[in-house]
Amino acid sequence: MPGFEKFYEKTLQQRWETLQQQGVLSEEQLCYLKNKIYAPDLGNSMIENYITDYTLPEGISFHYLIDGRNYLVPMVTEEPSVIAASSHGARMVQKAGGFKTKVEQRLMIGQIVIEDFQDYADLKRQIEKEQTAILKVANEAHYSLVTRGGGARWLRCRQLADDLMSVDLAVDVQEAMGANMLNTMLEATADYIQTKLASKVLMSILSNFATECLTTAECSLPLSALTKGNLSGKEIGQKIVQASRVAQLDPYRAATHNKGIMNGIDAVVLATGNDWRAIESGAHTFAVKNGQYRGLSQWEIDDHHLKGRIELPLPVGRVGGSIGIVPLVKINQQIMNVRSARELQSIIASVGLSQNLAALYTLTSEGIQRGHMRLQLKSLALAAGAKTAELKQVLDVMIKKNEHNLAAAKEVVAEIRRKDQNE
Ligand code: NDP
Repeated sequence: MPGFEKFYEKTLQQRWETLQQQGVLSEEQLCYLKNKIYAPDLGNSMIENYITDYTLPEGISFHYLIDGRNYLVPMVTEEPSVIAASSHGARMVQKAGGFKTKVEQRLMIGQIVIEDFQDYADLKRQIEKEQTAILKVANEAHYSLVTRGGGARWLRCRQLADDLMSVDLAVDVQEAMGANMLNTMLEATADYIQTKLASKVLMSILSNFATECLTTAECSLPLSALTKGNLSGKEIGQKIVQASRVAQLDPYRAATHNKGIMNGIDAVVLATGNDWRAIESGAHTFAVKNGQYRGLSQWEIDDHHLKGRIELPLPVGRVGGSIGIVPLVKINQQIMNVRSARELQSIIASVGLSQNLAALYTLTSEGIQRGHMRLQLKSLALAAGAKTAELKQVLDVMIKKNEHNLAAAKEVVAEIRRKDQNE
């Protein structure tokens, strides 16, 4: 773009000057950008064309009792009510004994895609015969992983089309998410397969459909604990079960059901420096694994209890990527007191289930808007320029007027300030 040539080669100062010279930002806006920076060297080394740090609010969600241990859960989100809902769901479950979780294994899958072969069965036979040698090549490409107790575990072949096959390599990545480590191992393996078996490799990269890194979280609440107003616990429980059925039957509902779950999951994934795109793509692929997109969690009534279960791939790490270099991530790990990647998976799955419980509970009892209203009005008031000290007054007037839009919020802020000036 004219005026922005070699932007990537410029210093931070030069990038700011360019933005101003090209009339993109005013002096005042540039000042804002500069003041937002908290670690310029870090930002510059993490991404390309860096200009500032974009911050999101972080809060703590309470009441998490998971596998007999209590946790404080840091969450990073821009959406009002996510943390409140998470704590609400967690408290209901805490009173009933907490979440129970399971992580059977932590393997990441990588793919070497081979094209233009003559005979799939023959090539598959050759690859399987070479399995030990192939795993050795993969391990030698990142040997430090083997010294930590991890490494390549197995491979399998899958035919994708007449001329395409995937060689899937499963790797124990220990405490890391493992994408980079696996990609290194895959490239070495692909070279070996290409040379040794005279095959044509199209590409090699990890898969985010982390089917060998699943986590389940479960909870069980007595129906009596669900009572609200004049609705009995049994009635609410039955409605939650019906809502869960709808998310299994209807992709329109399933998408929103899962969005609510990801509200919580993404917030913890972000707070712990993990790759939320990887978690998102894996979760949604898992949700459609049987051919129809469905809710990731399910609820049923059994023996006077409402029982919930969630299962999804959660390939998160406690080391690696940006985790070791962003100071806030280390602080958040400390707040959580998380000791392993498996434990982190258990916490994240529990947060997803808690978020889902809180959403379904509200939806099937009072409706989502009533609970959210004050929080949404707060966002509107802030967008209308209300100062922190003015918020309560602005919200009270907006609720009284029953007008929930930005223009009304601006009018209320102006009205309050006029009144204050006249007093
Ligand atoms: P790294 O490349 O940072 O590798 C992990 C690092 O952690 C290694 O340097 C390893 O040391 C070190 N480490 C220290 N202790 C341990 C331990 N106990 N277990 C395992 N490793 C340990 O990160 P990842 O390979 O985990 O890759 C994650 C990053 O890759 C994320 O930032 C992600 O966004 C990105 N990514 C994601 C992709 C995707 O999802 N499709 C694709 C490509 C990248 P040593 O070197 O000594 O073994």
